[in-house]
Amino acid sequence: MPGYGEPIEIRDYQVPDPEPGGMILEIQQAAICGSDLHVWRGDTANEPESAAALGFGHEGFGRVCRLGEGTTTDNAGRPLRIGDRVIHHVLPAPLGRLPNLSSRRVYGEWPYFFSTFADYFYVSANRAVFRVPDELPDDILPSVNCAMGAAINALLRGGVAFGSRIVIFGAGGLGLTATAAAKAMGATTVIVTDRIESRLQLAQQFGADHVVNVGEIMAPEDRVTAIRDLTGGVDIVLELVGLASLLPEGVAMLAPGGTFVEVGLFFTGTSVAFDPSTLLRGNKKIVGSPGYPPDLIPKILDFLIRSHRAIPFDRIISHRFGLEQINEALKSADWNQSRPAVTRAVLIPQHRATQSAESPAGTEEGRGHGRRL
Ligand SMILES: [Zn+2]
Repeated sequence: MPGYGEPIEIRDYQVPDPEPGGMILEIQQAAICGSDLHVWRGDTANEPESAAALGFGHEGFGRVCRLGEGTTTDNAGRPLRIGDRVIHHVLPAPLGRLPNLSSRRVYGEWPYFFSTFADYFYVSANRAVFRVPDELPDDILPSVNCAMGAAINALLRGGVAFGSRIVIFGAGGLGLTATAAAKAMGATTVIVTDRIESRLQLAQQFGADHVVNVGEIMAPEDRVTAIRDLTGGVDIVLELVGLASLLPEGVAMLAPGGTFVEVGLFFTGTSVAFDPSTLLRGNKKIVGSPGYPPDLIPKILDFLIRSHRAIPFDRIISHRFGLEQINEALKSADWNQSRPAVTRAVLIPQHRATQSAESPAGTEEGRGHGRRL
């Protein structure tokens, strides 16, 4: 990306040898996350070293195409082979397999392949990976390592429990996942808000008990009244939209003892008027939920095995593009430019189209050149 909002250029680099304990993945699908759009639009321009700015192109999954010396298992201890599908954690983390050799992330410098918007991905030894069980289809996997992890971690941070009443602001990839997971974790009532009707319909397919179109109930105080009339107040509010004005609104929806979980506002510079006494009157709390721990990934995969036949997780991805169409994909996913249709867009590198069942995962092309941003 030469500059914020400018067209992405695709460049060729030599795929490096994986370090001991690491591996090279051939990217299968890479999702465009809301944080990618914030970076692309320049919302992180004031903080170019933030995790969000450095993480441009982080969602997705790949197949193992080369294993580093001594890499024999995933982080759950299951054997790993060339061709296995794996989910990698979005960040290098201390739960990795070996001490860190490379957390470098400078565009155009070794190890080059640290964005999922590429043909290949360099997994350093300190990054957690988990093998994907064979029964899970590709099309439900692109968001596991970001949207799904962040959504489920946010529910846990909010203290989800049997009988919880929950409001979820935003029916994108995180909100849809949180809806299905909350119901699986025993929530009695899940209410999802959004301004796009098709997303709200999808939320109902993911298990939402009620949906609220914020375009139809325009005034925040009316939305608070509607939620309180329906529930008497909720135990958890998840803010997944990234709007500061949702803080006072969400806290007002909480029942005594309830928790507001901030997830969407990961970039600095927004603010809102807020009366802190509202926390004391009702013993409420506000917590932030950044990311998720790596060991949540195998639990999410187990959840998907149990639920993917009943819940249309594949519909979190609404649009598919070739890697070469990345600029078109970013434009179409940008909520400022095209509100209605796109829940989440994925990029699919071209090598997948030429793979056959007999020659999985680029064992030959792994030595060749690959594209990276
Ligand atoms: Zn993300």
